[in-house]
Amino acid sequence: MLKIKALLFYGLLLSAAITECLASSLAEQWSKVSLPTYSVSAQSIGTYNAGCISGAVSVPINGTGYQVMRLSRNRVYGHPDLKHFIESLGQTAAKQQLGSLLIGDLGQPRGGPTLSGHRSHQTGLDVDIWFLLSKQAANRSLAFKEREAWNAPSVLVGQSDTIDYRQWSKANEKVLEVAAQAAEVDRIFVNPSIKRELCLTHARHDWLRKIRPWWKHDDHFHVRLKCPKNNHDCQGQEPLPQGTGCDAELAWWFSEEAKHPVPSKIPPKPLVLPVLCDKLLKQ
Ligand SMILES: [Zn+2]
Repeated sequence: MLKIKALLFYGLLLSAAITECLASSLAEQWSKVSLPTYSVSAQSIGTYNAGCISGAVSVPINGTGYQVMRLSRNRVYGHPDLKHFIESLGQTAAKQQLGSLLIGDLGQPRGGPTLSGHRSHQTGLDVDIWFLLSKQAANRSLAFKEREAWNAPSVLVGQSDTIDYRQWSKANEKVLEVAAQAAEVDRIFVNPSIKRELCLTHARHDWLRKIRPWWKHDDHFHVRLKCPKNNHDCQGQEPLPQGTGCDAELAWWFSEEAKHPVPSKIPPKPLVLPVLCDKLLKQ
């Protein structure tokens, strides 16, 4: 019996390792592609976690109210809707003197899986934005080296659930509010403590519904757009639950179960991209 159990265990480990290996070789292929495909109208294909994009555009690395970080990664590509969203959020930040937005990863030139950092960001509809609203960056263009070396500071005290008010301010709340109110935004992922803070200060505001608690996300927030119009091969996520999410659902995030999740014994499913993406990769 013990032997069978051990065999099963090592079998699971082996299949998890194979899945992991296949996924990373797929990611390697997608990360080597240096340019997007041309398309009259951009098309996001598949799901946020298994997809790609044709006709992606790159976001200019400097714009009004924002600068793009980590240029060496070449993850500055996305759907034109995402470019428009970033530019318009930057303009609000500049107009309201909130500080400059620092933009982390969008997607790769043709989307697809990345070698590091994310499961999602595959269809050109996801972007990470730092919580640090830099006054420095609002006044000058950051050097390439600075964009590589600066760290995104956490807005929590140490590893705790407490907001660090040296890093967090009303300006952060304003940016999240403006972002969540954009019609094209599907949802925004933030650390549960940030959601709790927003629930305390903005209780009953409808836009809170789009702000979703998720693990980590204490140094940046992750904006996810809806599938753009006429992108028929794009698969959105399940609709958001009703209400602001400031109730029992939020309380769960502070439970032991949420804080120390038991690793699943079921090996992850292998990453399978839509056939259209296989074709896109070879173009
Ligand atoms: Zn992200």
